[in-house]
Amino acid sequence: DHNVETVFTYRSYRPEDTELLAAALAAAASPGLVIGLDGDLGAGKTAFSQGFARHLGVKDLVSSPTFTIIKEYEGRLPLYHMDVYRISLQEADELGLDEYFYGTGICLVEWSSIIADLMPPRHMHIYMETIGPDERLITVTGIGEPYGGICRGLLQKWG
Ligand code: ADP
Ligand code: MG
Repeated sequence: DHNVETVFTYRSYRPEDTELLAAALAAAASPGLVIGLDGDLGAGKTAFSQGFARHLGVKDLVSSPTFTIIKEYEGRLPLYHMDVYRISLQEADELGLDEYFYGTGICLVEWSSIIADLMPPRHMHIYMETIGPDERLITVTGIGEPYGGICRGLLQKWG
């Protein structure tokens, strides 16, 4: 079942809508959750991550980890916020990401498609598409369980 995909699409008309989705996912988050984020520059990957962190109980300000690659935060669970835009697949491999992916924290990976081969088989994927200045089409894909179940929960809530 690890490659069965469950898709939920969400339309965001303002940053607050994106935060609502992030809040729902933060509420459903359990240890080991890995969320890959993709979409153009300015689509809202970091905005989503900031909302997610806030609703996971992170008090610190979450900034873009572009130059640090991995930033750690403490919420109700440990949160690892990554941005792999500037690193090569080999560099990513050398970071030992499995320690984060298979640990007890939560991982948010901006530009995860770059390291698609290093992502765990079961994870959540979020694709953010810019439709207009404030409008975003957000596709949430649960790959394997329990992530498919989380998507089915989102479908019940907003479907
Ligand atoms: P990325 O990390 O994908 O490059 P950012 O999150 O840094 O993008 O930037 C997204 C920008 O778009 C922010 O300035 C945010 O306020 C703005 N924005 C406007 N509408 C939305 C929306 N509906 N959802 C998320 N961000 C939005
Ligand atoms: Mg970003």
